[in-house]
Amino acid sequence: NPSKTFEYRIMTYGEDQLLLIVRDVSRVSQLEEMRKDFVANVSHELRTPLTVINGYLEVLTADSNDENPFVQKAMNEMGTQTKRMQALIEDLLILSRIEASAERIYENTINMTALLKQVETEAKTLNIDKQHNISFKVDDELRIFGVETEMRSACSNLIFNAIHYTPAGGNIKVLWKKRAGGAYFAVVDNGDGIEEKHLRRLTERFYRVDKARSRKTGGSGLGLSIVKHVLNHHNSFLNIESKVGKGSEFSFILPPELIYENSLDS
Ligand code: ADP
Repeated sequence: NPSKTFEYRIMTYGEDQLLLIVRDVSRVSQLEEMRKDFVANVSHELRTPLTVINGYLEVLTADSNDENPFVQKAMNEMGTQTKRMQALIEDLLILSRIEASAERIYENTINMTALLKQVETEAKTLNIDKQHNISFKVDDELRIFGVETEMRSACSNLIFNAIHYTPAGGNIKVLWKKRAGGAYFAVVDNGDGIEEKHLRRLTERFYRVDKARSRKTGGSGLGLSIVKHVLNHHNSFLNIESKVGKGSEFSFILPPELIYENSLDS
């Protein structure tokens, strides 16, 4: 039956016995599809009204010659919160897109040097207040197959997180190089680090170590969830190593078959 979804498990008993368990998970996957559609539709519908509110707020703020400090404060706060909501909606849409992505990873190659240059430029703007020492060590020859928009989201989320969660004047290293197991990307910071008990849940949607603090930094709580889905789509996974008071390393290895060897071009 094509409308049904089944899950299979095979168990072995001793040398000569097999047990095949077939589970009908059609209802579960139907509900999961409905949930995805719902989130995608709501996010999409919220985009337009938010853009209108933000537009009017910007005009009002620019034209306002109200001396009342409360009015000024209220306008600023409304601007900040509207932008936060917009960022949250954008992240929800990115996540929905990745979840629904049927884009094949072997159809396009990604110039990681160019991609990381763009992210570095954005990182510099974010880093103005923090004054971290950020170094990029990038193997310019190392190109991969994959979906560029997704890979950009993954890399920038990890780099921007390191900037956010490291106290001012820290050291952040970004690495992109070949390794025995494939193509290795890592962001290493000497920030606050994360307690072991949180590590397992960090990639869940809206999971945050310190809710109040994270909210102040303005993140959506979806960043690492986006990273997880992107890596899953590229046959990889996120590796997190962290020590409280020492710092964190977020890394992943893309399998060798995703490395694009352009020996024919050269
Ligand atoms: P957020 O929008 O809150 O940054 P993320 O999914 O990107 O959402 O991250 C989830 C949580 O993981 C953050 O709220 C923060 O507590 C923790 N975190 C992420 N990156 C780092 C890092 N480099 N150092 C310390 N904590 C981090």
